[in-house]
Amino acid sequence: RPAVEYDGVTKTFDSDGGEVVAVEDLDIQVRDGEFLVLVGPSGCGKSTTLRLLAGLETITDGEVRVGGEVVNEAKPKDRDIAMVFQNYALYPHKTVAENMRFGLEMTSDLPDDAIDARVNETAEMLSITELLDRRPDALSGGQKQRVALGRAIVREPEVFLMDEPLSNLDAKLRTEMRTELQQLHEQLGVATVYVTHDQTEAMTMGDRIAVLNDGALQQLGTPLECYHEPANRFVAGFIGSPSMNFVELEYTPRTGVGRRGDITYEVTDEQSTQLGDRGHVTLGIRPEDIELATETGPATVVASVDVVEPMGRENLLHVSIDDREVVASVSGEYDISIGQDIRLRFPRDRIHMFDSG
Ligand code: ADP
Repeated sequence: RPAVEYDGVTKTFDSDGGEVVAVEDLDIQVRDGEFLVLVGPSGCGKSTTLRLLAGLETITDGEVRVGGEVVNEAKPKDRDIAMVFQNYALYPHKTVAENMRFGLEMTSDLPDDAIDARVNETAEMLSITELLDRRPDALSGGQKQRVALGRAIVREPEVFLMDEPLSNLDAKLRTEMRTELQQLHEQLGVATVYVTHDQTEAMTMGDRIAVLNDGALQQLGTPLECYHEPANRFVAGFIGSPSMNFVELEYTPRTGVGRRGDITYEVTDEQSTQLGDRGHVTLGIRPEDIELATETGPATVVASVDVVEPMGRENLLHVSIDDREVVASVSGEYDISIGQDIRLRFPRDRIHMFDSG
């Protein structure tokens, strides 16, 4: 059975004068032991989705199940979950050890020595044994983060919930903690639902990622599925950095050809079915899939270089093709300068087609 199921879950908030739909008809299953990342832009409903699971918001419609049990009406402490917050939410007057004990004391009837054993074991796992007697104000941000994790781990829950847990750490520490969280996850094998707005974090950490926009699930898949086979234009533009380039063409269903200026694109039979009688088609190509061409040929165009961003192994080129701006990532070994005309190739098998727009 799945560790967590969202089954047709909707959440609306009353706000002055109207209703805000924060999450709409959400279906997500989190597999046992899976690291699932909820990702999307600010306001898309990630936190609400997590808080519904935590019991911090009431569910308007649908069902949430943890370990097969419906938890719609269950109090947070009666759900088999442990949450790690962005701001750590440690008790300032308790020591690290007391912070770690507290949640366990509230939710289990383990004897004291069993609780002590778990706290010590967890502290060792997180290398915070020497901090156990300190109070939170004597800890660095990274150490507080570990304590917050420790407090969740000692509970041995069915699911960990994490709401942007690394966003208050500096860039270097954030990268280190990402790796460490992944190792912890390997070691513990506990299902985890992790919220972030950062697509890089989602891509590097998730077994699968759930991409949300406007309160609706856009795609649920492995990072590579979302990257290579984005379900729609939103996912295509959100996943991957730098972002995919898009161009909208006029589309003639009768001939199956999209056209804009010099660009023509003939759709496949399958795509033609998907498009039906729409008058437009959107094409997308990732910057890293565009190639420098040395000679004229099919699928090549001349582009004028506006900006060169040296990234080391790659150069990021911002170019103009007619009046369109396109970003291409090409090998850093080529010496390309601003104002130069270059020839770019758009490999047909790297072009994505979307029926929106
Ligand atoms: P995210 O975590 O992706 O930034 P949220 O889940 O916080 O998004 O919010 C989703 C939507 O629900 C937003 O439009 C937000 O303004 C709204 N919302 C969230 N919490 C409340 C609340 N308590 N009252 C009213 N609207 C809310």
